[in-house]
This record gives sequence, structure tokens and C-alpha cells, in this order.
Amino acid sequence: MARKVIRGVPVSPGIAIGEIQILPDAILYEKRHISSSEVENEIEAIKNASATVCGSLEETSANIPPNLSEYHDVIAAQTELARDARILDGAIARVRHKKICAAWALSETIEELASLFKSMADPYLSERAQDIKLIGKCLGSALGGCAAATRNDLGGILAAYDLSPAHVLKLKLDGIQAILTVEGGISSHTAILARGLKVPALVGISSLFAHARNNATAIVDAFRGQIILDPDASDLEKYQKSLNHYNLFEQNAKDAAKLPAVTVDGKTVKVRANIDNLRELSALPNSGAAGIGLYRTEFSYLGGELPDEESLHNEYCAIIGSAGSQKVIFRTLDVGADKILPVQEALHEPNPALGLRGIRFCLKKEDIFVTQLRAILRASHGANAAIMLPMVSTLAEIAATRQLIAKITADLASNGIPHAPNIELGVMIETPAAVMISDAIAASCDFISIGTNDLLHYLMAIDRNNRHVAYLHDPLHPAFIRCLKQIIDSAHKHGREVSVCGELAADAAGIALLLGMDIDALSGSPRFVPAIKHILRNLNSRDCASLARMAMDEQDGEKIKKLLDELLHDSVDTRLRFIIH
Ligand code: PEP
Ligand code: MG
Repeated sequence: MARKVIRGVPVSPGIAIGEIQILPDAILYEKRHISSSEVENEIEAIKNASATVCGSLEETSANIPPNLSEYHDVIAAQTELARDARILDGAIARVRHKKICAAWALSETIEELASLFKSMADPYLSERAQDIKLIGKCLGSALGGCAAATRNDLGGILAAYDLSPAHVLKLKLDGIQAILTVEGGISSHTAILARGLKVPALVGISSLFAHARNNATAIVDAFRGQIILDPDASDLEKYQKSLNHYNLFEQNAKDAAKLPAVTVDGKTVKVRANIDNLRELSALPNSGAAGIGLYRTEFSYLGGELPDEESLHNEYCAIIGSAGSQKVIFRTLDVGADKILPVQEALHEPNPALGLRGIRFCLKKEDIFVTQLRAILRASHGANAAIMLPMVSTLAEIAATRQLIAKITADLASNGIPHAPNIELGVMIETPAAVMISDAIAASCDFISIGTNDLLHYLMAIDRNNRHVAYLHDPLHPAFIRCLKQIIDSAHKHGREVSVCGELAADAAGIALLLGMDIDALSGSPRFVPAIKHILRNLNSRDCASLARMAMDEQDGEKIKKLLDELLHDSVDTRLRFIIH
């Protein structure tokens, strides 16, 4: 095949040279004409997919915990749809008469049926179009699963239409050299996981399936955002050299990781690590991080059954143990949006990013929240630990959590169970509402952490996983800069520590700007901690402060970027700017 270069958005740096493996659920988007001899196989695949989906829905239903019993009816309705004759017979007829593959036949049938329902005047029936589309996706994925059963390896350069964080966690990552997806955004949780797990990744590759073939050789350049399909000998030689060079560079950054994060003019910034799962813990000791600034607790909920108090307690003790005497901040369960519990999927909220997410879900499902809080409080006995709440938008959410913590603490005390009696409670600022009341939030909590990933998206009204609006992902937008300043000033007014734990903390321009606004702490993937510290050691906080003042008066994001680039030009190694931009 001829050499071809396609482009995507780099979200996890690195270079990979290997073979493309198309992930089974990409089969959902397959459009292939078939020969007469293939017809029966494709029909069989449709029937098998229906059986697989019904089986897995029944299993989900059997495992629904009593506190989420309302999901039973939703799952029963989906099971009915997965075996609905209009869908299955319609798809089978298309395979027979149009001689098209199962995936194509299924997607045409689903589209037709969904538009029929959508056009109905009765709002209840019209809304069923969404259910039909959802079940179409499940059937399409199951078709992929049937094909996958004949494949025993999933290594090399993975090409997928989209990948959820739960999916990434389930993949055996050992053999995976890079991830390529059509969908996805720069701060999607899948991108964050790929960064943490050191897997180079590109997202938003709209032409991926027009060109990628299984087993084709490819070079993934996740610095420049390009993929070379069927590279020639000179590409391979050039990229092998770059790969060696980059590995050496990472090694050098690691060697300096233990040096303190003190700026040229003597200001110290705490640099902590974001940990998403136990797999990342091994990187912590050599990263030079001063503890864990964000432990994303939700990842141990995404696998299947809800974890019980004992297993959470063990997990949290392991996290605290790995940090020694350094601080560990447990972010309470942040499910919803793109990190949904298997049972939440059944709810299919119309717009999950604006739905029952983070603290909203926890306060609604109080017993799930109480189980987690008990585990954190018990594991934090005698430790340097804190609790932090995601997706806060009202003071009432903080007050309700405080009440719960007080009740649990009293209960643990009266039963003589060791626990942390006065754990610190922090709040993540991730919604525009929280920015506007950051003064009152700072007064009612112990510390503030800015979740820049979500805050930027909620402020700009863009979905962090939506590639079509990814061009609006601009952390140097004047509106965003003003939010950062307002939050930092509010926290300091009340003597609270303020940190950034979103991806901006690992961005060279972001670090300079935040330093200029007097940020106290930054938290990023352990992999990037050495680089964050290196950047801080090369900056002067006074220069950054005058630049931050200029940025506050500037209306044009491009000019702000130019100012920051000029400041960084002399002080920071260009190779370090890869971290995000
Ligand atoms: C954020 O939103 O910036 C954040 C750190 O939380 P998460 O990325 O897990 O949503
Ligand atoms: Mg967030």
C-alpha cells in the first residue's frame, strides 16, 4: 500500500512504531458488501449479537444492588428491544436482499426505526428513538465482540471509533503501543488515562477508518499529531532515532525529579500527583511528587459490581501507604458523564455531562456515598489525608456532605472503630456557579482545588469528549483566565490552600500563568511531575506575576498565548512544552 499521512489531536505524548489492530467495536461502523456465501454467517452473527446483549443485560439486572432497584424496569425494557423482531428481522432481510454485512444492515434498520419513532406525535413514543439507538450500539458492539472471539491478541496500535475510560481500564495494556480514536477530546478521561499509563494517543482522527487497515505498519507521532500509514524506510529510520532520543530525555527528567520545585526567585510550589488507579502507583515514588493531589476514586467502581466498604478500605490504605507521610487527597466518587456505572447506562440521561454527576449522584444515592466516606475515614486514621468533592455547584452540597461526615464520624467513634476524627474537606471548582460563589465556598471548606478540565468545558459550554467543538478548548481564553484569578484570590482571602489538579497543571503556559497568579500547589500525572518541577525551577514568579496582570487586561487569547510563549522561550526547554500544547 502507498504511504499515507493522516492527522489527529495528540493527547498523550510519545512515538510508537507498530501494527494497526482495529478494535472490535469499530465493526459497528463497517460498511461492506458481501457475497452470497457469506449471507448465512452474517445472519448468524446478528442472532448471536442479540443473544449476547440479552445475556449481558440479564446479568446486569441480576447484579443490581438493592439501592438502585429502579434500574430493573429500564433494563427489562432494553432486553425486550434487544430481541425485538422489527430490529432483528429487518436487519436479516437487509443482509439477504441487499447483500450487505451485518453491521451495515443493523445500522440501517436502527436508523429507520429510530426516525419512525422520532416522528411520532406522542412525546413518550418519540423519546423511544433514543432507546432504539442505544440498543443499536449495544448490538453493534456485540457483533464486534463475536468477531473478537476469533482474535486472541489486542496489541500494537489500537484503532477504535471511541473508547470509554472503563474500556481502557479493561484492556490488557501491556502489548498496546498507542491508541487512535475517531472521537474524543484533549481532556476526556480516556486521554487522561492514556497519559497516566504512558500510552501515546491521538483522538479526533475523522479519516481513521477510511485509511487504517488491520495489521498495516504505522508510525504514531503523538507530538506532532500525525500517523504515517505504510511508512517508507526513511520514515522508520527517522522515527526510531526520535524514539531513542525521547526515551533518553524522559530518563534525564526523571533523574532530576527529586530536586525541589522552587522558582528562580525562591518561591516554592507543591507538586503532587494525580492517581487514577492502582496501576499508576508504582510510578509515584520516583516521580518526586509531594503526595497525591487527586485520587480519582471512581475507577474502582466502573468494572461491574459496586465495591463494598472493606474492599474500598483496603484500596485506600494501599494508596495512603504508598504516599508515606505525604498528603493524600481522596476525590469522592465522580461518576456520571463519560464515567458511568454499568447500571447508570440504563438511565441514558439526555445530556449526561449536565446530569447526575459527582456530588449530585452521591447525595442522591446516600448509602453508596456513606460506604465510601466510611472507608475513607477509616483508612485515614492517623494519616495525612483529606476528602475533596467534585462537581459542586451549591453551598448546600458542602453542608450536606459535612453533616454526613459528622454522622459517620460519630457512629465510628461510638463503635470504637479507628478513624480520622477531623478530616479536612476540600472542594473542586469545576462549574461556573462555583466560581461565582468561590468566596463563600472558600469560607466553608478547608482547601480549594481547581478542576480545570471540567471548568473550561462548562464555562465554554463544550463537551470535553466532543471533537466537533474541540477548537473551543482554550485554557488561555480571557474568560477562563479571569475565573482562575477569581478562584485563587477567593481562596487566599480566607487563608485556604488553592491548587490546580486539572490538565492545565501539566501545561507549560498554564504553569507560568498559575505561578503568576500565586497558585500554591499543582497536581498532575506522576509521569509529568518531573517536567512540572523542571518548568517551575526555570521560571521567575515575579516575571510570571507581571505577565498574569497583563493577561488579565487582555481580551485576545492569541495575544495572551504569544506573551506566554515569549516568556517560556528562554527559560523552558521546548521539548517540555509537549505536555499539553
Ligand atoms: C478536572 O475536571 O479538572 C478534574 C481534575 O477532574 P476530572 O478530570 O477527573 O473530571
Ligand atoms: Mg472534573
